[in-house]
Amino acid sequence: MSRKFKETVLVLATHNLGKIEEFKHLFGDVGFDITDIGQYSWVPPEEIGQSFWENSLIKAREATKSTGMVSLADDSGLCVDILKGAPGIYSADWAIMADGSRDFDIATAKLIKEIQRSDSHKPYTANFVCSLILYWPDGHFEKFEEKIEGEIVWPGRGANGHGYDPVFLPYGYKETFGQMDRWDKNKISHRGLAMKNLIATCF
Ligand code: IMP
Repeated sequence: MSRKFKETVLVLATHNLGKIEEFKHLFGDVGFDITDIGQYSWVPPEEIGQSFWENSLIKAREATKSTGMVSLADDSGLCVDILKGAPGIYSADWAIMADGSRDFDIATAKLIKEIQRSDSHKPYTANFVCSLILYWPDGHFEKFEEKIEGEIVWPGRGANGHGYDPVFLPYGYKETFGQMDRWDKNKISHRGLAMKNLIATCF
């Protein structure tokens, strides 16, 4: 049986302001405080897991250890079938530049180059995955993972969203994630679906 969240404060285990805003929006009006970890001296741990859910577990466990509170962490990424699931858990790393900054134009160009090198044919099927972990101070956790299937298209379309959004066309839609309104995207996205399950199960 899944555990219900009965506490008064939930900590979001991320320094990413975009994610914090999305989580708060997806929770909507709730009867507890949603606080971000920025006010604690939390250094995001190294993501040494071999899967999305292992990495979100590492982040959530460390956040709860630092704050003593229930935390919510996520890990997500883009998996391209012809690239055997790459960039996958390394989706953010593909954008890291020599000076430590991130450039998703470069990461996307690399993605397209790798697909072209594979000498395969359209459609270039892919999926976005999101793994969420809700972690309690006694070590209990609940895990939710969802994906959305689609294909990689180029040139990229749309200036909304972030990361690989402009080149991801979800099945059944005419707009890429980069063309969709941000909140419409969240209704169908990997993160939106995982959050929907988490809220229905634990809240
Ligand atoms: P995380 O912060 O380790 O979960 O990094 C996830 C990375 O996956 C992001 O930096 C993006 O590169 C990619 N990613 C995950 N979800 C999305 C999405 O909805 N749109 C575009 N890129 C995404």
